[in-house]
Amino acid sequence: MKPAAKLGVFGNPIEHSLSPRIHGLFAEARQEPVEYRRHLTTPGRFSRSVAEFFRHGGLGANVTLPFKQQAARLVTQLTDRARLAGAVNTLIPNESGQLLGDNTDGEGLIKDIHNKGFCVSERSLVVFGAGGSARGILPLLLEQKPKNLYLINRTVEKALTLKSELMALGLVAAEQIQVHSSASDINQPIELLINATSSSLSGQELLLPPVLAENACGYDLMYADKPTVFMQQLSQAGCKKVTDGLGMLIEQAASSYQLWMGGERPDTAFVMAQFRSSS
Ligand code: NDP
Repeated sequence: MKPAAKLGVFGNPIEHSLSPRIHGLFAEARQEPVEYRRHLTTPGRFSRSVAEFFRHGGLGANVTLPFKQQAARLVTQLTDRARLAGAVNTLIPNESGQLLGDNTDGEGLIKDIHNKGFCVSERSLVVFGAGGSARGILPLLLEQKPKNLYLINRTVEKALTLKSELMALGLVAAEQIQVHSSASDINQPIELLINATSSSLSGQELLLPPVLAENACGYDLMYADKPTVFMQQLSQAGCKKVTDGLGMLIEQAASSYQLWMGGERPDTAFVMAQFRSSS
């Protein structure tokens, strides 16, 4: 029998990570021997832990909080989307042992937005947050050519810096981003609202735009067993379709799995069904 492909995820904390289960289900469905483990590390030990993993036959690894930016500095080469995100969630070794860093978060969100039947193209959307995940998803959202993209962050300077950094990195479309410190300033009906803040983690509400379109949809990047505070807020405001970020997590994992293992993209609907039936 073929030896198991050695995969893993580096983070801190890491014991809560759903990645081993997601990748285990991909491997089971594709009948491939895979061993995917969690690796707890520290900022001081991160580079050494990663180097050791690949020296001992690692085929590929994910990187999660708080190491995504550190991983972008560690690799020899970055994909375009990882360079724009300034963060790496997927490490891929080449034949000479050098690491390529990719970021599959934005692709994960776009794929799941489409799975859910939401639309970005020609729509007016609001993205809350200017942290790591907002940075990863903005280039991919702009690629979909929205009509308007409002970026809202309570620390408005951070959102302004993010916009100018994306432009300085050559993302011309970032010019279109309209930055505000509060959604109450927006005077357009909004069709898609994306929460890329950690507000739901602390159970805090966000100030919503004054007008939501009749068919408005909402997406919280955070995932939980029950609807997040943001999802509840949107439902109360009349949004018919609201979702958490579990689908994004599964889709970004599928992109990583395919990069390491090749072949067809893993079946994410099957994995989503397994998670929903056990929650
Ligand atoms: P960061 O720490 O990089 O950024 C946090 C952002 O949230 C900042 O913009 C911060 O604003 C804002 N914020 C925090 N608390 C509040 C609040 N109470 N009200 C308003 N804004 C607030 O976090 P990430 O971008 O890495 O992660 C954000 C969320 O996305 C997390 O919930 C994470 O779990 C989720 N995520 C999900 C993924 C998935 O696959 N589904 C992938 C990646 C992330 P300020 O600048 O003012 O401090």
